[in-house]
Amino acid sequence: MRAKDLNRYLGDLGWRRSPIPPKQRPLPSAKPATGGETLADLAATAAGCTLCRLSEQRRTVVFGEGDPRASVMFVGEGPGAEEDRTGRPFVGQAGKLLDRMIFAMGFEREEVYIANVVKCRPPGNRDPKEDEVAACAAYLDRQIDLIQPKVIIALGKPASRRLTGTNKPMGALRGRWSSYRGIPLMPTFHSAYLLRNPKAKREVWEDLKLVVRRLASTAGE
Ligand code: URA
Repeated sequence: MRAKDLNRYLGDLGWRRSPIPPKQRPLPSAKPATGGETLADLAATAAGCTLCRLSEQRRTVVFGEGDPRASVMFVGEGPGAEEDRTGRPFVGQAGKLLDRMIFAMGFEREEVYIANVVKCRPPGNRDPKEDEVAACAAYLDRQIDLIQPKVIIALGKPASRRLTGTNKPMGALRGRWSSYRGIPLMPTFHSAYLLRNPKAKREVWEDLKLVVRRLASTAGE
């Protein structure tokens, strides 16, 4: 199934799976940050959050999931209907494609960390508003500080704009390194966009390869 998925993603692009194996990582564990706070503590706080209007219609706070010591952290936009129902990020169609992208990079989904700019579903899957993104900012920042990934991949416009601090179009942001809170940041197209525009998979794969190369060059650090 996985190999078939990967072939489906890469096959017509003429790419093979990255030959660079991900660095050996220790088993997942809750990593205390300064002050002793863990991701579980932060998730518990977020579960009761009422800082913005998105809390009024949510079913579940979709905090994020994955390896708390992941070297790669993906940041999407916000939960959709399926995520709101299950409490897990990227489990709908866009999530299935994200899984294939992760696998193409040489990782399993459980080995990366997946979060969103906002933790509650914007009604009707609209883009999160500026004040909602601002209200949720501290949660994402604390997640990043606790995980300390080697690379952050911003998926789509809201995440790329939030993390680069610019309003540039995706075409100008994707494929270019910058940094966020001292961590290398690579914006690329959202997997939901790829479902509508499959031709952009080629550009996303170029961006993901930049990430894989960077990780390989810092392996052991
Ligand atoms: N699912 C998520 O969790 N985030 C998105 O940005 C899109 C779908």
